[in-house]
Amino acid sequence: MKERLAMAVHDEIASLVRRAAEIVVFSGAGLSADSGIPTFRDGATGLWNNVDPDEVASIDGFMRNPRVVWNWLRELKNLVDDRQPNPGHRAIARLERIVADKRLTVVTQNIDGYHSRAGNADVLEVHGTIHRLRCHARCGFADEWGEDLREPFPCPQCGAPARPDLVLFGEALDPEVFTAAGRRSARADVFFCVGTSFTVQPAAHLPVWAKASGATVVEINPHRTPLSEVADYSIRAGASQFFAALCQTLAPDAVDATDA
Ligand code: NAD
Repeated sequence: MKERLAMAVHDEIASLVRRAAEIVVFSGAGLSADSGIPTFRDGATGLWNNVDPDEVASIDGFMRNPRVVWNWLRELKNLVDDRQPNPGHRAIARLERIVADKRLTVVTQNIDGYHSRAGNADVLEVHGTIHRLRCHARCGFADEWGEDLREPFPCPQCGAPARPDLVLFGEALDPEVFTAAGRRSARADVFFCVGTSFTVQPAAHLPVWAKASGATVVEINPHRTPLSEVADYSIRAGASQFFAALCQTLAPDAVDATDA
């Protein structure tokens, strides 16, 4: 009975996707958990278990001691470089190919770059990326965070500190990227919300805006979150399992070499 109910919900969501013109997939750290990248808040494996976020990942921490923040993020980047997008990322990229006649935007809070690596073309990284450095004073300098860049250094153009191009605690989001994410969310017919605890603001507003603008909001998370009350569907499943099944329902006969 449970199985049949789950399948019925799946078919309903697949129908909504078929009828949609605009789709948003909003993702958080839980999506990359299957890649071996720890989330921030999950039990014994959370990234914050052994460190103080204010020391290692805040703008105040960076101003006090850039080396500590640099080293912690460098370790996280090494882990991200070592690991790979997982079947959940690949299924979301496959979904984009299946619904090529619609607009599918990925809005991610993740800084790991895995959506693009998996093949999604339209990705808004609202918290930036761990793969790039930029000038803290935004003079225009930006560069890939290469293997050799192990120490903080001054911006070669203006002398302000160079820093990872991601949003540290205590900083505002890039207004251009966040405005674009807000617009896409407000236009979405179906808004998937996957792998996020719905606690980091202002990104957590996006599903609320989407719903207020008429989207069907579908949450995919093995655990309840504050969004579970508000979402039209709250699916207790892992990301990989859900999106692989959705793709299978939408395109049962399609053979996709990148799924292997
Ligand atoms: P979070 O750590 O607060 O919450 C993760 C959520 O994912 C939890 O609700 C958990 O139940 C769920 N989850 C765990 N495994 C899952 C799975 N297989 N499928 C679906 N859901 C699963 O994450 P958040 O809400 O994204 O907020 C944390 C902030 O941390 C974000 O701003 C993000 O930038 C940053 N972050 C990014 C990464 C990354 O880039 N991979 C990693 C850690 C943290």
